[in-house]
Amino acid sequence: MARPLAPGPPSVQVFETPEGVRRWSRAVRRQGRRLAFVPTMGCLHRGHVSLLRAAADVGAVAASVFVNPAQFGPGPDWKKYPRRLTTDIETCAALGVEAVYAPRENVVYAANHSTWVVEDDLARPLEGACRPGHFRGVLTVVLKLLHLFEPDVVFFGQKDAQQALLIRRMIRDLDLPVKLRILPTVREPDGLALSSRNTSLDPGQRRRATALWKALAACQSLLAAGEKEASRVRQSGLEILQAAKGVQLDYLEVVHLETLERVERVDGPVLVAGAIRIGSTRLIDNVVYPSGALVNPESKAKPS
Ligand code: AMP
Repeated sequence: MARPLAPGPPSVQVFETPEGVRRWSRAVRRQGRRLAFVPTMGCLHRGHVSLLRAAADVGAVAASVFVNPAQFGPGPDWKKYPRRLTTDIETCAALGVEAVYAPRENVVYAANHSTWVVEDDLARPLEGACRPGHFRGVLTVVLKLLHLFEPDVVFFGQKDAQQALLIRRMIRDLDLPVKLRILPTVREPDGLALSSRNTSLDPGQRRRATALWKALAACQSLLAAGEKEASRVRQSGLEILQAAKGVQLDYLEVVHLETLERVERVDGPVLVAGAIRIGSTRLIDNVVYPSGALVNPESKAKPS
């Protein structure tokens, strides 16, 4: 799946502790090179690869592979999350990624860790309402990683649009000296958004999982046709999800792209975000209207 980004023999340094990462990233800077960073939870797929490839345009590329326990709720979800570190390192090496940080949990979180990054606005709806504490865990680990790598540019996917918007808010609110790039969602030919969690679906569940994309695509078509009533847009997606067998709906919402508040009328950019459960696997996806409104926001002078 990996074509080298740069000529030369692939080699990647793998770090398990912050000290090694800091030494490496400072050495990159001393060489006068720019650094791009791609945080992941591993089990890398073509979505991650698109971020790693884009990152290569910046300069040296680093990635992290860490299944962050702080962003999972209680229950088996964290343990169950797929892990394939050896393959991930091979993928990174083949892509020309120069450093991978793959720490153990106790390296990232001391036993009495008690300092958290809490965002109080965008973190409330959608995923925040379904997964209490999720974004506190995400922002905390991302801030720790940004302090460690001190990258020039950090890359996130539109697939997790609310997460990307929260990172954008954190960067602005905490004056972090890093640029954010958000890249489009990479999909399977039938529309299913690539996700490490897809590996947990059995063949029947995998077929049913396309319902989420079909619902979002229906919403997108109505929006493109000029529908301004958010309830009609939402209803078109809900009908598809409610008709799908073995699919439990967590939410499907039409929200303002900047504030994530529900809208009644579509008179500016909106995010249509959905989450479903199929068996014990939870899937999220979204579309943005107009479709390019979230990607590459680094070109905007003042992010909200
Ligand atoms: P994860 O490993 O799921 O935490 O994802 C790491 C990064 O990859 C996040 O910024 C995600 O938004 C992004 N990502 C995950 N899936 C996709 C996808 N299908 N297309 C593009 N980016 C993705």
